[in-house]
Amino acid sequence: MGLAQFFTILEYVCSQTDTYFAKVDKDYTSQICPNCGIHTGKKELDVRVHKCPECGYEQDRDVAASLVIKQRGLAQTAVGAPVVKQPSNGDLTGTLV
Ligand SMILES: [Zn+2]
Repeated sequence: MGLAQFFTILEYVCSQTDTYFAKVDKDYTSQICPNCGIHTGKKELDVRVHKCPECGYEQDRDVAASLVIKQRGLAQTAVGAPVVKQPSNGDLTGTLV
């Protein structure tokens, strides 16, 4: 299954189960601290832990990136917003369910 097909199915399932679905900007998700929001710089792929030099927050890098994605998705929500929401810039980047 391709990524586009996966998103189509995921979006449909979310719409049928009143589950929030959003695509968010994927850029810098592994470089932003989900705890304080500071830009911590690029990590090489072998660096598996996010350690924030500003606030000291430490987390698995993938978990930290997923928290940034979640925050971006929640930032798109608003009272009365549709369950299924498309990004304004059209980027196909990430999901929040
Ligand atoms: Zn931090």
